[in-house]
Amino acid sequence: MTGSCLAAMREFISSTPSFKVTLRDVADIWPEIWSECRRIGIVRCLPELVLGLFVTIGMVLLALFAHVWKLIDHRILPIIDPWSLYHEERREYRRRDKEFTRRFLAHPDAVAISSRSRRISATRSDLFFDRLPAEIRRLILIEAFGHRTLHMSLEFQHPFHLVDAKSDDLSNTHAGIEYSAVATADGSMTDPPSHLLTGEPRQWTWFGCVCHRIPPTCSALSYGRRRSWPIGHGIASEPNGDCCLEGAGTCNEWPGEWPGKCKIGALGWLLSCRQAYIEGMDVLYRTNTIHISSTPLLHYLPDIMTHTVLSHITSLELVWNANEVPLALGFTGQAASKSHKPQTKPLFSSMQVLRITFASFTWGKLDAATGLNWPYRSKDVLASQLQTRLFPDIDALLDRIVPPSTDVTISCPKWIWYEVTDLALVEKQGKEATKPQRADIEGLKCWRETPSMLTAADKELEEASGSPSRAGFWIHIPVEDVNLGTGRNYDWKRDRLYGLEQVRFRYPVT
Ligand SMILES: [Zn+2]
Ligand SMILES: [Zn+2]
Repeated sequence: MTGSCLAAMREFISSTPSFKVTLRDVADIWPEIWSECRRIGIVRCLPELVLGLFVTIGMVLLALFAHVWKLIDHRILPIIDPWSLYHEERREYRRRDKEFTRRFLAHPDAVAISSRSRRISATRSDLFFDRLPAEIRRLILIEAFGHRTLHMSLEFQHPFHLVDAKSDDLSNTHAGIEYSAVATADGSMTDPPSHLLTGEPRQWTWFGCVCHRIPPTCSALSYGRRRSWPIGHGIASEPNGDCCLEGAGTCNEWPGEWPGKCKIGALGWLLSCRQAYIEGMDVLYRTNTIHISSTPLLHYLPDIMTHTVLSHITSLELVWNANEVPLALGFTGQAASKSHKPQTKPLFSSMQVLRITFASFTWGKLDAATGLNWPYRSKDVLASQLQTRLFPDIDALLDRIVPPSTDVTISCPKWIWYEVTDLALVEKQGKEATKPQRADIEGLKCWRETPSMLTAADKELEEASGSPSRAGFWIHIPVEDVNLGTGRNYDWKRDRLYGLEQVRFRYPVT
């Protein structure tokens, strides 16, 4: 009964115009009454004046009531009602944190795997290790699970909708993840379609798979990376558009049996014995590129994985959502941030290649990377925010996590970032130092030198010690976002600067 009353009240209130509209409507009736008063006199117009007054007071009171009710309904009732969405979300938030602490902070899985595999090792011996030389074993392991881009994901989410068979031969169903509506127990379908079982409770979900975003026809680069490809294949080729974890990829273009070709398939091998673990880990983390877009991993990876694993990782591809993890908190973790020990080595001490891309922006919302709302209002303000806020934040992050020798590429999420940066860098640093060029991953890139605070004497000392500080990083714009204009507005200045040979740049001509 109470529920239906509340529903009726909500419907009534929702049909009531807003306070502002009410005041405007009320204001509209008075000019007519005043002109009538002037025409026939105030006394004869008295009934109309009283009626006008009643209508005005009534409408204002009604709008006021609706305003107060909306406030109570949206802000106060959810707090009073223990079963409201507000409390349900709070309970889930607490469960998420508790589960995370229990599973990853108290007993890191990686450590458990490491110690378990060592126990198995004592009695294990087989032909693979006894007869084959180490180089051959390594080649076999690389063939099995090396030279790929691999997804590493940890999310608090509904379970994946995994299937053993594809619905048809044309669908990709990457890693067995089906994107569709799912029939519920009563036969109805979940709405909208999803790659998750949205009817089941959320839980911490580890997931790993091969990345099939880019087809095998695109040129291979080091550590299993591939050059980007022209739009038109239906799947975005940049990391921040990756849909592998939603079941979409170019799987049908890759050789091998589905769904095995989408999976890493290394865990069974790693757990078989100590030697397999050591050699497998080396291939897994030293020859592949690890793609991470999970916010929990961008923040807590040092809590979740052992120092040994982190020091093996050689190539990383990150999709950073600065609204959820500020760069200053990147890879700090809970345990790491509580430690007062000075950090002597970068977290990923073997890192050779690091690429950071940014998650897509939401229209009208804050882009925390620059501290500005998207879309940006002023190119000058954006340029200033990039130079004085974002790039120094990236300098600080790189100092903490990778050695100075790592090849770092920061991909701009929008052409406007790049547009306000590249020419300014050429002007400030000179063309030779800025090195504007086509990028190996496609698109354009230029070099930003890290501002040095060192004196000449400090620099000499640093060079003598053999560990120079970072020289800079690449700023990159993906091929799909390059915008040199068309027709008479084509940007020949940049075309010449980048040596594009007067080919109206868009995609590589093949
Ligand atoms: Zn696949
Ligand atoms: Zn992928």
